Amino acid sequence: MKRFDVIVAGAGPAGSLAARYIAENGFSVALLEKRQEVGSPVRCAEGVSEKWLLKHTGVEDSWIEAEVKGALLRAPDGTTAVMNYSEKGYILDRARFDRDLAWKAAENGAFLLTRAAVTKIDPHDDFFIVRTDHPVHREFRATLLILADGIESALAPQLGIRTTLAPSDIEMCLQYTLEGAPHEEGFIEMAGGNEIAPGGYAWIFPKGGNRANVGLGLLGSRSMAGFNARFYLDRFVAQRFPRASVIRTVAGAVSASEPLEEVCGEGFMIAGDAARLANPLTGAGIGNALESGALAGETAVEALKAGSRSREALEPYKQKLMRSIGNTTKKFYRIKEPFVKFSDDDIINMIRIVSQIDPNRVTVAGILEAAFKENKAVLALIRKAFFS
Ligand SMILES: Cc1cc2nc3c(=O)[nH]c(=O)nc-3n(C[C@H](O)[C@H](O)[C@H](O)COP(=O)(O)OP(=O)(O)OC[C@H]3O[C@@H](n4cnc5c(N)ncnc54)[C@H](O)[C@@H]3O)c2cc1C
Repeated sequence: MKRFDVIVAGAGPAGSLAARYIAENGFSVALLEKRQEVGSPVRCAEGVSEKWLLKHTGVEDSWIEAEVKGALLRAPDGTTAVMNYSEKGYILDRARFDRDLAWKAAENGAFLLTRAAVTKIDPHDDFFIVRTDHPVHREFRATLLILADGIESALAPQLGIRTTLAPSDIEMCLQYTLEGAPHEEGFIEMAGGNEIAPGGYAWIFPKGGNRANVGLGLLGSRSMAGFNARFYLDRFVAQRFPRASVIRTVAGAVSASEPLEEVCGEGFMIAGDAARLANPLTGAGIGNALESGALAGETAVEALKAGSRSREALEPYKQKLMRSIGNTTKKFYRIKEPFVKFSDDDIINMIRIVSQIDPNRVTVAGILEAAFKENKAVLALIRKAFFS
């Protein structure tokens, strides 16, 4: 049986970053990935803010399919507001991005194993036995465990952590990559409305030329037989891009919940989507996955150096995570709750107000303030979330 200081389950951005950091610091780490090929099939619209890449991975030309300088926010009646970003964004080639991050971990000494779904975790006093469905490497032993197995988050329950999401805390998403879909270059578009994507929004993310990721997410509690993501997306695409060809289909879910209360315990930490760290309002999760993976890796290294795997030794992970992204995610969750109940008129009013602001001065906080101008309680929350 192979023994490692750390086993990381899941080679998405969170897991690969954690594994790379641990390997770079001279500890042995196995990165176990269920899929045959890291990063494929893609389950993402591939948008990311440059700040996260600069902080954690650098920016490689081969990852970038389009640069984004702002967003168009479209109301059901066609009213459109423009928001120029203060920081650049990118649309990634996510398959390549994920693959390169995992390969970088391997280059630095991590043992990367694909087609190795972690199936069973047996906790012992000072270590874990981790079983996989790999035909050869069926059992591993590790001092620490980092669970980065994404939205399914099926492993944490084996360690007593409940990860079930309520239907009102999950966005059901479907996306087509379209060829022949002319759009505004340099801008993503987000379209809201109860006839477009109930409790969510539709997006158009540029992929270069006339290619775009066009998708939508709707709240699980508002997805019904016959009125599901496919129904809404097919209708949206027929209206906006009747001549386009579908060259790729992506289906998946994004959590729209608070982060897990328990993101670490005796010998283990939970990172990325598995810890419910995607932004509950926008669904963006790549940046938070990178950040949490880096923090989990850093904490693992500190604990191993200190020779302790206790809950207390791993507690700094939770503290740093909450300070950096967790508390903000919680606040977005509290704002999401009233937001998903908006009528079409509310959305039109919000976008009308925002459309009158100079695009260089439009901020997320400004949009939310416009949305909740009548609701003092939510306004107070927004001000606390963004200005305190
Ligand atoms: C349709 C859609 C569009 C999205 N668009 C965006 C966007 O534009 N921008 C953005 O920032 N975010 C977006 N997201 C969210 C984003 O994709 C996730 O937040 C991000 O991938 C989280 O990274 P992660 O490393 O935590 O998990 P993942 O990237 O999901 O990686 C988890 C990995 O674990 C593996 N795994 C699962 N179970 C096991 C197991 N038992 N053993 C071993 N391996 C396992 C999986 O195969 C996977 O490779 C989107 C999501 C969806 C569904």
